[in-house]
Amino acid sequence: MTTSTPTQLRKPYVTPYAEENLGLPLAFEWADGAPRLTYRDALPQEWMFGALWARCGTARTGKILWNLVHTLRQRRCMMRGLCRVCGESATDPDTGRVWWILPSALADGFRSPWPTAHPPTCKACVGEALASCPYLRREVPVVCTAGDYTPVAVLANLYGQDDDGRVVETRHQIPVGLGESHLLNRALATQLIVQVSDLQPVA
Ligand SMILES: [Zn+2]
Repeated sequence: MTTSTPTQLRKPYVTPYAEENLGLPLAFEWADGAPRLTYRDALPQEWMFGALWARCGTARTGKILWNLVHTLRQRRCMMRGLCRVCGESATDPDTGRVWWILPSALADGFRSPWPTAHPPTCKACVGEALASCPYLRREVPVVCTAGDYTPVAVLANLYGQDDDGRVVETRHQIPVGLGESHLLNRALATQLIVQVSDLQPVA
């Protein structure tokens, strides 16, 4: 595995660009007898796992916003086991296991399943990710492979309405379990959290 610092950093697949930032015309509607967060011009595909998802463009042009995460590309990585850096499959063709860098030491070693919002990193991109990702430089990253992963929650902002009926944010970036429908109705999901299991350290 190489850990050399590349002279020309690639723009990671999950990193957003300023031009991909879209307006969010949020509103509440009644659905199945309860208020539900929506867009005034919502499309059915903007819900997934019971939550409305943050709208964003997909052009990948313009000023890159380091340290932020592109909602739809992060979700795609998590659902398909794609690499956060190059966007290709992070499954090792030799073992069928998915390469993953977890940002800090695991509390229970490698024994327990582990929830994370960080997408996989393919074997070829591990060195570059360790050298360049800001969140990995802050922690003591653990390189491992996972035998399985499954969606368990979303990272979301919660919304309500004030006395004048305006839509206001009430909680910022909290995890909401996929079974918590009363919270999912008020959630604007920004990242998918999966539980990685059958973890093995990479020597
Ligand atoms: Zn990669």
